[in-house]
Amino acid sequence: MSLADPVFQSPALTRAIETLVAAGGSSPHECTLVARNLVGANLAGHDSHGIGMIPRYVDSLLEGGLRVDRDPLVRLDCGAMLVLDGDSGYGQSVGQKAMQMAIERARMNGSCILGLHNTHHIGRIGHWAEQAIAAGMVSIHFVNVMTRPIVAPWGGRDARFGTNPFCVGIPFPADAPVILDMATSGVAQGKARVAYNKGNAMDPGLIIDTDGNPTTDPRYAVVPPYGALMPVGEHKGSGIALVCELLGGALSGGGTWHRPHTGEKKVHNGMLAILIDPEAMGTADLLREEAMSFIEWVRQSPPAAGVDHLRIAGDPERETRKRRLIEGIPVDATTWGDILNAAAKLKLDPALIDRTARSI
Ligand code: NAD
Repeated sequence: MSLADPVFQSPALTRAIETLVAAGGSSPHECTLVARNLVGANLAGHDSHGIGMIPRYVDSLLEGGLRVDRDPLVRLDCGAMLVLDGDSGYGQSVGQKAMQMAIERARMNGSCILGLHNTHHIGRIGHWAEQAIAAGMVSIHFVNVMTRPIVAPWGGRDARFGTNPFCVGIPFPADAPVILDMATSGVAQGKARVAYNKGNAMDPGLIIDTDGNPTTDPRYAVVPPYGALMPVGEHKGSGIALVCELLGGALSGGGTWHRPHTGEKKVHNGMLAILIDPEAMGTADLLREEAMSFIEWVRQSPPAAGVDHLRIAGDPERETRKRRLIEGIPVDATTWGDILNAAAKLKLDPALIDRTARSI
């Protein structure tokens, strides 16, 4: 086994992750959904929400915070509104079913408001916007994170919420749909971990220390005693994070995080998703035409100094996916080692996972 950072082709890596998830007791269908979702996040360039989540998932599974092969439990289904309890199931499979149900109801009624709660980690939120886009739908997502708070509210000195993501998917332009998918922290915690591992400082304005003072030392976001990440965009991002907590957490039927962390490994998400069928609204043609002309107009802005070309939300993920499908997915050796250790916790031979991931 090489100690160098491995680079994997996505089909082989997907097979390796499927094998690992199967060892946790999931059905073949769930293994495929989980593996494709995680490898899909790596392909999109969001390694923080890709296969590196596996060790946390395995710990959570062994602790009982994550349950296999769950179907969403229907709490309300009146067509225009759907409230589902994820039953602590894999967010990758519960989320897929929940979105499919919401898409079917939006197809019938023109729109659907989905509240999904009590589900294990649902990964990259853009994945769910892509599912809606594939069905021709606009979708808007507010998400909260039910685990140790890591982001400080603007004006505060310690962490009070998660990196609560907000996402909007618009199915046009058809060849490059708009997908704004963003954490509400100034920087993802995974990026602080990379800086910490490399011994690098962070840019100013992203982290506070244990006393709430600004620092560029990433340790305060990575190892105890913790400080906190700062919200993106000062009071504005802090406000969006708060709204994600209340809508994604409470209006979805779950709850908000307002208690000390007990150290458990499970990470649950709550999501409020609003799906709109532009065909039913009668404005699909206008939206399609305006999206093309407006985005073309935006793209004509001359690139700022140091920028190779202007990008629209969704472009970076498409660019990285195109490149990684050809060149492979780089995984740092520490993350890969942690994944192989997780395989061993499930009584799997780590060498089997390593060989599978490196096969052609
Ligand atoms: P990011 O900062 O890389 O990108 C945010 C958005 O900005 C994306 O829509 C991207 O397309 C766009 N973008 C990036 N660079 C751009 C550029 N140069 N020009 C124009 N647009 C650009 O993403 P992030 O905020 O670090 O979030 C990473 C991922 O983490 C997301 O997929 C998010 O859903 C996920 N996340 C999940 C959870 C969870 O609990 N499930 C929590 C937090 C974040």
